[in-house]
Amino acid sequence: MLKRNEPTFRESVDMMFNRAVALMDLSPGLEEKIRVCNATYTVRFGVRLRGDIQTFTGYRSVHSEHMEPVKGGIRYAMSVNQDEVEALAALMTYKCALVETPFGGSKGGLCIDPRQYEEHELERITRRFAYELAKRDLINPSQNVPAPDMGTGEREMAWIADQYARMNTTDINARACVTGKPLNAGGISGRVEATGRGVQYALREFFRDKRDVDKANLQGTLDGKRVIVQGLGNVGYHAAKFLSAEDGAIITGIIERDGGLYHPGGLDVEAVQHWLTRHGGVSGFPDATYSPEGAALLEEDCDILIPAALEGVIHLENAARIKAPLIIEAANGPITASADEILRDKGTVIIPDLYANAGGVTVSYFEWVKNLSHIRFGRMQRRQEEARHQLLLDELQRLDDYLGDAWSISPDFKQKYLKGAGELELVRSGLDDTMRIAYQSMREVWHDRADVGDLRMAAYLVSIDKVAASYRAKGL
Ligand code: GLU
Repeated sequence: MLKRNEPTFRESVDMMFNRAVALMDLSPGLEEKIRVCNATYTVRFGVRLRGDIQTFTGYRSVHSEHMEPVKGGIRYAMSVNQDEVEALAALMTYKCALVETPFGGSKGGLCIDPRQYEEHELERITRRFAYELAKRDLINPSQNVPAPDMGTGEREMAWIADQYARMNTTDINARACVTGKPLNAGGISGRVEATGRGVQYALREFFRDKRDVDKANLQGTLDGKRVIVQGLGNVGYHAAKFLSAEDGAIITGIIERDGGLYHPGGLDVEAVQHWLTRHGGVSGFPDATYSPEGAALLEEDCDILIPAALEGVIHLENAARIKAPLIIEAANGPITASADEILRDKGTVIIPDLYANAGGVTVSYFEWVKNLSHIRFGRMQRRQEEARHQLLLDELQRLDDYLGDAWSISPDFKQKYLKGAGELELVRSGLDDTMRIAYQSMREVWHDRADVGDLRMAAYLVSIDKVAASYRAKGL
């Protein structure tokens, strides 16, 4: 996919990092220490499948251990390579620092096309990969905690957790060795939707400040905004679903592997998702214009573009033709460093990946804490909270009775107010808070520093500053 003169993913991340540190006052030694990837482990292992031994290549890269455990997903894709895993690990470091999850950055990947294997084969491959990583402490609740990424999900995380537990039978915290697990295997409510939810919260916070909205030459709120989403995987699907169902945004375009769908009046996200699962692609979907040239839809007129699939989809060739005034990077690295420059020159506002898709790792953090504390969030306080609310309601009821027709409690107030927060509500509240605070820290730098012209630089400045402070505190 890379064009000539296009930096690799790893180079792109380094270029963005370099642009940021040029505005900072770090010693060259510390700068270098933060930039480099600490270690990348490559493993080649064989699994007997279909009567033969198949060899797989996997990676786990640790970018920065200024905080431990290090955190980051495991990706299953044929395109996985060392450059990519290292770039993604570096992004994890900056992402975790920005949203204040107490982790260093890591990432893993396995070169595999998961669609070519049966479930029981994938289980054997995953368990073997997990074994190789766990025996080197590259999976470990206090050192390295993987999570889902492209091509992996709850199922793979459950296998990894079980594999680790079998190898560490006396580790009481074994479940915290990986996040993104199913609820019945120690997962947390709201983890699956978390990254898409985070994208929604990020956009809401963006639209709360008129100065930001003005910078993108937009007006008003999310209501009625035309949105094109690239990739209807876990992240793109949830973002599109929440934005259309809860914020009034109109999903005018959806791009998938086999092409794009366009409907100026808005696509039914749920219906497209159903079609995609049943047919393996979007072609043939009724109620929309289909084009096999999905990438061309990235260039269509819209208010918000959400690349939620692969890295490098907006590059030197197509960047100048992108019309969206606002892009939110739900994927990691969807805009190459050279495309970023072209878009910045055009005045496009970009909400950068290290912030925009941090919802996933944020809820992973909650899951890890839940596993270490061995108790579900809300279990202790929910009923107590409800009892206190009942007290207030009883008093209000007395007032209602006393005032007669002059005043009465609104019909659905009782029901809404009485309900104490369960785990899902608490997770969403924690995620919303995290996304708001992190955005506000970027916004402050973006508006206050004349030498910072874009949100990506603001994000890097905030996060590198935090990583540097950690290293300094360690005496480095
Ligand atoms: N793979 C996700 C990411 O790129 C989640 C990582 C995590 O939860 O640790 O941010």
